[in-house]
Amino acid sequence: VTQPQIGFFCSRCTRYNLYSISSPLPSDAGRCLECGHVDAPDPSEALLSGGPIERCPQCGNPQLYTRKDFPQQLGCAAVSATILLSSVGYALWDVPAAVAVLALASVLDFVLYHRLGEVTVCYRCHAELRGFAPNPGHGPFDMHRAEEYEQGS
Ligand SMILES: [Zn+2]
Ligand SMILES: [Zn+2]
Repeated sequence: VTQPQIGFFCSRCTRYNLYSISSPLPSDAGRCLECGHVDAPDPSEALLSGGPIERCPQCGNPQLYTRKDFPQQLGCAAVSATILLSSVGYALWDVPAAVAVLALASVLDFVLYHRLGEVTVCYRCHAELRGFAPNPGHGPFDMHRAEEYEQGS
């Protein structure tokens, strides 16, 4: 894993920005590249040394969830490539080839999935924390909890 990184959405213009965690924190951490607004981060001591993650460095919220760090576009591309290949296989070589392509694709999916890193995401401000030791207390995404954040706070 590379250097731990925080991705956050500017509270003024909502642009997505990134900064790396190091000790001491870089002086431009939290500055928006678009509008220059600074959302001064407040990482805990543990976070500065690589984790585990206790709370969100952007808003202080202790409730976060983990998900696979999977680029959405890559997922769509993989699915359409699989469909295309299996129809070509079907047209050229009949059913067994199409099945073989699908099987191969699922193996590739599996390998890819397990090579992906985990990202921890804040329920409140949607900041993304990459490259830190995970906190076992942070589970997968919880719809009900997310809805509570949408409605209030
Ligand atoms: Zn901004
Ligand atoms: Zn947050």
